[in-house]
Amino acid sequence: MDGKVTDSPAIGIDLGTTYSRVAVWKHNRVKIIPNDQGNRTTPSSVAFADAERLIGDSAKNQQTMNHANTIYDAKRLIGRRFSDSKVQEDIKLWPFKVVKGSADTPKVVVTHKGQEKEFLAEEISSMILGKMKETAEAYLGKVVENAVITVPAYFNDSQRQATKDAGTIAGLNVIRMINEPTAAAIAYGLDNKSDIVGKMNVLVFDLGGGTFDVSLMTIEEGGVFEVKAVAGDTHLGGGDFVNRMVEYCAQEFKRRWKKDLTRNQRALGRLRFACEKAKRILSCATQTSIDLDFLHEGIDFSIKFTRAKFEELNMDLFNKCIETLETCFSDAKMKKSCIDQVVLVGGSTRIPKVQHILQEYFDGKELCKNVNPDEAVAYGAAVMASKVSGGSDKSVQDVVLHDVTPLSLAPKGVPKVMECFEIDANGILTVTVSIISTGKMKKLTITNAIGRLSKEKIEKMVHDAEKYKYEDQEFKKKAEAHNALEDCIYKMKKKIEEHSVKESVHHEILQVTKKAIDKTSKWLKDNQAAPFAELHSKKVHLEFVCKSLF
Ligand code: ADP
Ligand code: MG
Repeated sequence: MDGKVTDSPAIGIDLGTTYSRVAVWKHNRVKIIPNDQGNRTTPSSVAFADAERLIGDSAKNQQTMNHANTIYDAKRLIGRRFSDSKVQEDIKLWPFKVVKGSADTPKVVVTHKGQEKEFLAEEISSMILGKMKETAEAYLGKVVENAVITVPAYFNDSQRQATKDAGTIAGLNVIRMINEPTAAAIAYGLDNKSDIVGKMNVLVFDLGGGTFDVSLMTIEEGGVFEVKAVAGDTHLGGGDFVNRMVEYCAQEFKRRWKKDLTRNQRALGRLRFACEKAKRILSCATQTSIDLDFLHEGIDFSIKFTRAKFEELNMDLFNKCIETLETCFSDAKMKKSCIDQVVLVGGSTRIPKVQHILQEYFDGKELCKNVNPDEAVAYGAAVMASKVSGGSDKSVQDVVLHDVTPLSLAPKGVPKVMECFEIDANGILTVTVSIISTGKMKKLTITNAIGRLSKEKIEKMVHDAEKYKYEDQEFKKKAEAHNALEDCIYKMKKKIEEHSVKESVHHEILQVTKKAIDKTSKWLKDNQAAPFAELHSKKVHLEFVCKSLF
């Protein structure tokens, strides 16, 4: 697949560091598609367990019990080198193992089905993208191939290429990659506002789960986007606000019971889960409570949490966001009064205090927040997907993307070498070098950035991804057959207990069926790992033996 649009629906995917979303343009509007758990947002987590592979909610839900094999934050690794100082810093924080692969690429190491396995960040991201693809397919009832995937504005060529490769491995045809702030601006229709005269200055404030990104953009008449400056903090987000709540609760527990729960991983995990939930509630309610039975050493823990307390615990972090904004403006040599629109992006911008201090900073200016802030990126990606694939109606106007690269592309000129840098609509760089030597001119086109996956390697990963998907389906089929047999045994037992059966069925037949039920029940207990075919045939056999009961 080469990025050309094929005849199938096109979706927009916001592949986030902590959470991902998928959306599609349908019936003249954008639909944010809920996953199989009914959630409009899916954790960007993949877990490897003894028997199966889990992606999304199911992976995050078992994280506290399986730290070493639950992978998240793949976006922090993608397209980076193992020796990158940022990667080295992150490795210290992760409970999972990351090793150096060939060509200095980082690889995560997990134990899956009793075997040690290594995965590239592209493969982990492809599993999440595959989950988003499946989510869209279940909703649309057809195979989905085409997708627009969003990336942070500061992503370099290698990070963009690797994200695109992740899409290919997931079986997606990546028709375009766009910057997250650009997608958010598109969601607000800022690209075709009729009142734009000349250029409009837009500030996109994205406070997510673990990252904070500020982008200063200009949008010109006709929808030409230019990212002028980016700033942020790679370790500031919703997770930090939850940490503060957890620390507070642990202190409170210690004060009340003189016991330290911080070494009890399970207690900490449960507390984190409850705090995250409470944090979300506090964005709309002014108080809530956290109640956890048997939290630590058999002690129940209950605490009232007010919005004011939450704000007090995190005020310095909120203020840090504003300081970053200040830096961004001074770097860009721009005044905040020049900003025409402020766009809120990221789940953490739902926090009322964050909105409040931001609005105050912009002297009371109205903020763009009527599209759910955590859904704005996926929303814009879906609009773009529809536009690129030609599946939209007239209300989706032409969007010309002109995203300025945040990289510096001015190497010192070496005599006799001419470089031509081209950046395509996905922000991917192609370098053409003309070497002028001994009067002759040689032309060399570099299409494959160093460290990029080769076509053969990608093909192998596509194959592996299909294998994993097949195994997941087989596991699901087996689990269903197991449940069906259990259910069948239960039903037959119940039937025998029924008075009517005892009267109408011959005594001998009753004995034979009883025996068959007991035998199957014992077999199931002893053969928990039996394959699908055996489980299924046992059920068919039992139904046959018991048919005289009906
Ligand atoms: P990412 O940074 O991966 O792009 P999001 O933008 O979805 O992710 O942000 C996820 C963060 O938003 C999480 O920390 C989550 O707890 C937080 N969040 C989601 N909804 C709310 C809410 N209603 N109030 C406060 N925080 C929220
Ligand atoms: Mg995000």
